[in-house]
Amino acid sequence: MQQIIPGVFMHSNASIYQYLIVENGQITLIDAGLPIFSRSLIRTITNMDRQAALSLILITHADGDHYGSAKQLSETYRCPIAASAPEAAAIHSGRMSRELKPRNAFDWLLFSVALPLFTAAAVPVEQIIEPGQLLPVLGGLQVLDSAGHTPGHLSFYQPERQILFAGDSIIKRRNAPSPAHGPNCWDEVRAREAFERQMALKPRHICGGHSYFRI
Ligand SMILES: [Zn+2]
Repeated sequence: MQQIIPGVFMHSNASIYQYLIVENGQITLIDAGLPIFSRSLIRTITNMDRQAALSLILITHADGDHYGSAKQLSETYRCPIAASAPEAAAIHSGRMSRELKPRNAFDWLLFSVALPLFTAAAVPVEQIIEPGQLLPVLGGLQVLDSAGHTPGHLSFYQPERQILFAGDSIIKRRNAPSPAHGPNCWDEVRAREAFERQMALKPRHICGGHSYFRI
């Protein structure tokens, strides 16, 4: 586990990152990782602060590497899950929120090998959140529309600390922040627009689902 700024930590397995915000005896988790890594995440949460309890799970989007452990975590800690309406509908039925678009035989092969690992248990999402909301986390965490990678993708931004939790709306390409693209991207035009809107905020910390940038 790595501290990003005081009170904000990153946990990772196999280049899949989750973020933990600890304040006032409560822990907010941003994304839940794959089900095969749920024990590792629970161990980290248990060890990080014995006085604090997991109280909210924010999900950026309904891919298995982002909500795979959500059911187990919400049952273990009896805490709610929050996501946008389109992603919540997918999470509630244990699927993804968009079709993949394999472009060639290699993509087909990759998806057929990888997808079983990304299978996630269906779980109800108790809190529907939407862009424009301000969450009572880190002194005010803005909910941003970052649709593109998926139809209801959300990001979370804390402007005073300039820390952005971007899910898969910002990825690493040639060692630089880049928009989502490729056969698992729902809409590449919207993905680029979402990327540009977020970069215009001038975040100092970009906490992505598979990369972290300190700018
Ligand atoms: Zn991902």
